[in-house]
Amino acid sequence: MSEKKAILTLEHVSKEYTGSAKLFKKAPPSVKAVSDVSFSVNEGETFGIVGESGCGKTTLGKCIVRLHPPTAGKMWYDDDGRKLDLMQLDQDESFRLRQKLQIIFQDPYASLNPMHNILEAFDEPLRVHKLGSREQRREKIAEMLREVNLQPDYMYRYPGEFSGGQRQRICIAKALAMQPRLIVCDEPVSALDVSIQAQIMNLMRRLQRDYKLTYVFIAHDLSVVQYMSDRIAVMYLGKVVEISKSEGLHTDYKHPYTESLLSAVPIPIYGQKQKRIILEGDVPSPLHPPAGCKFHPRCRRCMEVCRHVEPTLRPVGTDGHMVACHLYHEPEEIPPKNE
Ligand code: SF4
Repeated sequence: MSEKKAILTLEHVSKEYTGSAKLFKKAPPSVKAVSDVSFSVNEGETFGIVGESGCGKTTLGKCIVRLHPPTAGKMWYDDDGRKLDLMQLDQDESFRLRQKLQIIFQDPYASLNPMHNILEAFDEPLRVHKLGSREQRREKIAEMLREVNLQPDYMYRYPGEFSGGQRQRICIAKALAMQPRLIVCDEPVSALDVSIQAQIMNLMRRLQRDYKLTYVFIAHDLSVVQYMSDRIAVMYLGKVVEISKSEGLHTDYKHPYTESLLSAVPIPIYGQKQKRIILEGDVPSPLHPPAGCKFHPRCRRCMEVCRHVEPTLRPVGTDGHMVACHLYHEPEEIPPKNE
């Protein structure tokens, strides 16, 4: 079997937002939306990121395409054998990589300018990146519309003339027209009806095969992420708590938070019942995260050490499975003694 090549590597990436000093008499508050995240994405795979709203998954996606550059850590991109530091790009490299790293957003209504027809929406980035003559660009747009099962003459229509599913197809075609290598898909089907979701996911899988794309697929619905992904990272309050192969996750999960997410996914086997695990309480405020394990106030397997010592993401087994939980590893710090 050929060796897997990492196209994207994140090392201890964090993103912190700080309030304006003018608005606060004391030191402005800061929120760590993403905290110390490390993983690699292999060329040609779909790497899923799943978690509740507010867990930092969308911020992480925006960090990867540098819409919101990280405040700490390193990101490496394999540019056909050249390892590029995404945090240290000069202007020319940054411009060139904007073409190679594309993003598809959740809301197909907000992603397209209602004042521009599809031709104008597609043509501008192609022209800026000098991807062909006027005639070649028009040909490319027609070809991409055909690829997502839309009529080429739709390019003369405006976004308001399309349904939600058609608009998301247009957004996928627009990203694809840039000839990217990696696409961050940020909840691309969450705003769509279930029947349309399946069509869009199958379309994305076909395009991935045909165009040799790599996806980072972000969603809050674990069943959607499982369907699309080869590997999955589970996020909770800005941290990755588990990384596992998608296949077999139902039986091989480790983290109690992953267990609760899985319990919400219906099993399509007649007669088989599943025990739903309802988490107590809400996700804590990232302004005041709990000490120790961030999940401990909601974890039914919480131990004393979990309240004081934060677990780190470490391997369990030999197949790249990783988990951040004291149930599987000795704590790296010495827990404080009780009075
Ligand atoms: Fe639960 Fe402790 Fe594991 Fe955190 S470290 S998930 S609190 S058992």
